[in-house]
Amino acid sequence: MSLEKYEAVIGLEVHAQLMTASKMFCRCPNQYGASPNTNVCPICTGQPGSLPVINKKAIELGVRAAIALQCEIHSESVFARKNYFYPDLPKGYQISQYERPYSTHGNIVVRLKNGDEKRIGITRIHFEEDAGKSNHESYGTLVNLNRAGVPLIEIVSEPDMRNAHEAGQYLRALHSILRYADICDGNMEEGNFRCDANISVRLRGTEKFGTKVELKNINSFKFVEKAIEYEIQRQVFAIENGEKIIQQTRSWNSGKNVTEVMREKEEAHDYRYFPEPDLPKLTISVEWLGQIRNEMPELPSQASERFKKAFELSDYDAAVLTSSKELAHYFESVVSHSKNGKASANWVMNELLGRLNAASKEIEASPVSATQIAELIKKIDSGEISGKIAKTVFEEMFATSKDASVIIKDKGFVQISDPAALENAVRKVIENNPSQLAEYKAGKVKLLGFFVGQAMKETQGQANPALLNELVKKLLDT
Ligand code: ADP
Ligand code: ZN
Ligand code: MG
Repeated sequence: MSLEKYEAVIGLEVHAQLMTASKMFCRCPNQYGASPNTNVCPICTGQPGSLPVINKKAIELGVRAAIALQCEIHSESVFARKNYFYPDLPKGYQISQYERPYSTHGNIVVRLKNGDEKRIGITRIHFEEDAGKSNHESYGTLVNLNRAGVPLIEIVSEPDMRNAHEAGQYLRALHSILRYADICDGNMEEGNFRCDANISVRLRGTEKFGTKVELKNINSFKFVEKAIEYEIQRQVFAIENGEKIIQQTRSWNSGKNVTEVMREKEEAHDYRYFPEPDLPKLTISVEWLGQIRNEMPELPSQASERFKKAFELSDYDAAVLTSSKELAHYFESVVSHSKNGKASANWVMNELLGRLNAASKEIEASPVSATQIAELIKKIDSGEISGKIAKTVFEEMFATSKDASVIIKDKGFVQISDPAALENAVRKVIENNPSQLAEYKAGKVKLLGFFVGQAMKETQGQANPALLNELVKKLLDT
């Protein structure tokens, strides 16, 4: 049996909490981590007679997202009630948007690991209020309504992705855009950026979609990719075994690395949607839209273009350095101190990111600060230390968080720029390698590199490279 005969079809639904000060329809704080049931009022706990009022800031942030995701924005849209019974939903319905969302037809261009770009369609974005949270304890379930009524946007993609990698890249790009534009905090562990993945498989070359399974609330990019990969295989194996795929909601068990059934999938009619009678239509005027457009923060794609021009970076380097807002800020801070864009890009990408990856650390947790890297770059540029020594110094900086100057002083790493001191080393190397010297004299000028390398070794890598090169050439040629 071969997986290759099949192709996966994937569409993602992302719930992103909006970074407002207060909730969607009341004035309670929108704040994670407060004592349970302290950020609550009659509106968000669904008391009889209370009425919702739309939070303008939430709409503004949602519109910002729609602009950033190249969507059409509708001047009129409608809130709807999505009815279901659950302990963390005190009203018995969630205010959402259904038939008339505020935004449709967008897209994100994502970069794939083979270097290609792919455009993934966005079907719609709609507003929604979050539900509360049920905490299942050994003695029973506790309900915390602090999250009830927190503003969300739900971003629904087209079924345009064909494997786990594409889905992962779409999510990363979306996450980065929402964070860049100060729309959503994007903290997946705190649940303010949540992803449901819809997955089906079909025989390659066929058009018709297979029956989809929905994977719920997977809380990291890595898990999304793993869960999708597992689910694709599960479905292919089932079909090859003559089973039928049942439309279900499943969850990812990150301990066992499998997906498990949660429930048979509910249909839209189960929710008995109807227009929300307590709220007017949502209107977004042309003037307001224009104002939000004018006040848009810089997006990753724009930052990338800016970096390319200002620091003469390649497409790839600029894309990496703008892959997250924190990394881009870090890089800009390095450049502003070092005044050397190319070197800053190299040090951040090759030395720092490599080590952070190996240590599974994000840039926020870097043991070396932006100013510390910049100081190191300045020492190379001023000739105080060689690039080679700088790498050793950096290793020590990463391990200890000490400043370069402290490490250089403690270890005596200063670059040797005294011609007399270097000359001794060069003479010694020439004396010790008579046969290479003869070959050089006979015309094998390539051997210059060999002598420079040996002399550098002789100085424990501390020689000023330009000066050393000059001296080696001079002494060989006399
Ligand atoms: P539902 O009504 O079950 O929520 P939707 O049509 O609203 O389904 O689609 C929800 C998500 O599932 C979207 O992201 C969409 O792209 C995706 N999707 C729809 N059909 C399929 C399919 N057959 N396979 C994979 N994904 C799908
Ligand atoms: Zn409230
Ligand atoms: Mg749906």
